[in-house]
Amino acid sequence: MKAVVYHGPRNVTVDTVEDPRIEDPTDVIVKVSSTAICGSDLHMYEGRTKAEPGLVFGHENMGTVVEVGSGVGSVKKGDRVSMPFNVACGFCKNCLAGNTGFCLTVNPGFGGGAYGYVAMGPYRGGQAEYLRVPFADFNCLQLPKDGEHENDFAMLADIFPTGYHGVAMTNLRPGETIAVMGAGPVGLMAAYSALMMGAAKVFAVDRVPSRLQLAESIGAIPVDYSKGDPVEQIRDQTGGDGTDKGVDAVGYQASAPSGEEQPASVLNSLIDIVRATGMIGVVGLYVPHDPGAPDPHSANGELLFRVGKLFEKGQRIGTGQANVKAYNRYLRDLIIAGRARPSFVVSKQIPLGDAPDAYARFDRREEGYSKVVLKPAA
Ligand code: NAD
Ligand code: ZN
Repeated sequence: MKAVVYHGPRNVTVDTVEDPRIEDPTDVIVKVSSTAICGSDLHMYEGRTKAEPGLVFGHENMGTVVEVGSGVGSVKKGDRVSMPFNVACGFCKNCLAGNTGFCLTVNPGFGGGAYGYVAMGPYRGGQAEYLRVPFADFNCLQLPKDGEHENDFAMLADIFPTGYHGVAMTNLRPGETIAVMGAGPVGLMAAYSALMMGAAKVFAVDRVPSRLQLAESIGAIPVDYSKGDPVEQIRDQTGGDGTDKGVDAVGYQASAPSGEEQPASVLNSLIDIVRATGMIGVVGLYVPHDPGAPDPHSANGELLFRVGKLFEKGQRIGTGQANVKAYNRYLRDLIIAGRARPSFVVSKQIPLGDAPDAYARFDRREEGYSKVVLKPAA
């Protein structure tokens, strides 16, 4: 089958690889209908992780079940399903507590599995024609078969639940204000979720005009950080108080124009923007800069963020991979009911073969490349 294969920094190609097969009785094989490119793929794409050449990318997958292992009970051939990017067993201590992003069975000692991701278990990605899904009864979310809402449902594997999770970690209440740093796909989903949850004002901070326009289109207040300090801009629009809550949907950005201080500065800005005792949800991913080399953005691999100021303001921070399974069925039902349309973020749907070009453009944050969905069957 065809698949998007990593070969080295900024080098992916669409290659022919072996078809996946049932390896455990609890597996199913899914024929992939939609699989999206994620900001998380860029950490590997840009070459600052230990991802090995040969890795098939793709953790945002949906499609139709074509083969079912003998130990699978509820999932049937022909089912249309969405898979959380987290591969999880469903029975370890963390999964039982709902923390499926930190499954101890699929990734002992570290916690957390994912398709096509370095250090997240041996699972091949779904930017391909077919995908093996382990623990299928637990990891498949059933979708209506009518074929509608394909791009909305494609957002259920990761970014819609992840954006929602970023806001949920702040305990946002209706009527509160929130600043979302980053209006990439994840930040846009966080802003969208905050509005759904009843936020009075949502600030979306970025510098890419088309992303800021998308934020404005859903009712968020765009803040262009290239035009001035976002802390000042948001304080000015909140009577000097700052916001009640904040989300970091930026994480490490290689292309950050502000250079070395950037990764820490997003968190530091949030500490300044959010009022005392407010809460901050961090879904942006911070990875070491360069395997084996000292990280120029930190001392000893740690972010230089101002924990003293955090303490002084009595703020709390939530972090981590989103536990997609905690949210995906509810968000699916909002889509079915016509109450959520996360596909507003999708700017391109293209055949799998065009993935290398799309990676390069998404990596440059080019206009019109906010969320790219690959269609292997096209
Ligand atoms: P992205 O990397 O394109 O989004 C980041 C956005 O932040 C971009 O639009 C960029 O212009 C903007 N940005 C850069 N520097 C900024 C700054 N100083 N202030 C404000 N905005 C700034 O793509 P994405 O898919 O939205 O991913 C965002 C982050 O979320 C990545 O780090 C990704 O790895 C992470 N992620 C985490 C999870 C999770 O489960 N926690 C899931 C998916 C993605
Ligand atoms: Zn993702």
